[in-house]
Amino acid sequence: MERTLSQADTPREELRRVVVALRTRLQLDMALNRAIPASYLRKQGAVKRVYAPARERVRLEAADRPEQTLEDVRDALGDCRRCPLCKTRANLVFGEGNLHAELVFVGEAPGADEDSQGRPFVGKAGQLLTRIIVAMGLERQDVYICNILKCRPPDNRNPRPEEIAACEPFLIRQLQAIRPKIICALGTFSTHTLLKTDTPIGLLRGRFHSYQGIELMPTYHPAYLLRNPGAKRQVWEDVQKIMKAL
Ligand code: URA
Repeated sequence: MERTLSQADTPREELRRVVVALRTRLQLDMALNRAIPASYLRKQGAVKRVYAPARERVRLEAADRPEQTLEDVRDALGDCRRCPLCKTRANLVFGEGNLHAELVFVGEAPGADEDSQGRPFVGKAGQLLTRIIVAMGLERQDVYICNILKCRPPDNRNPRPEEIAACEPFLIRQLQAIRPKIICALGTFSTHTLLKTDTPIGLLRGRFHSYQGIELMPTYHPAYLLRNPGAKRQVWEDVQKIMKAL
């Protein structure tokens, strides 16, 4: 059974998850240029001096993180060593497609084929995703395709919270740079990570949710469809809603 983000085994594990979640929240706030407590910014060295009283909240201004292009985000990511997945990856898989796409697909993490080619969704699940895109009347180069994680977890295991925490700020910046009209979250991990919920995907799919003001449609992951072809009908319903909204 797939493990959700909040299933803790022990109090220590739970504490670790809380710390990771808190760190993620603060990283997201920074990436999204939202209000952050001045004291945190000072500690992180994000601002040299805060003139407002310590309790007052300050903004991480555009000077620190100006409007970024996808190229800027790729440059900032560099030869990423922020989590241990860098040791086992063959290639980092940043994402690909239309830089001004109206529709972005977000999957979970690269698999073996993606890892060896450095491109997202090129294996069996990727071929099915490509067929779904074509069935929508689009081509791969019309949309943008990326993942929650940019490096392959060994043996395709589930992404770990600390890996998500390290990688998600870059996904957020990619989405900020593209500013799509719609995001299609593929599968449980993508949906849970983006929407910050543990609700089963079966209950979330089929309707739009809001992600930073962008419409987000969760649907089943193509790899799940390969194992459960019966769910293709529901995915088709979901993508039809996306097509209507585009
Ligand atoms: N599965 C994913 O979630 N992403 C890929 O890029 C390939 C398979």
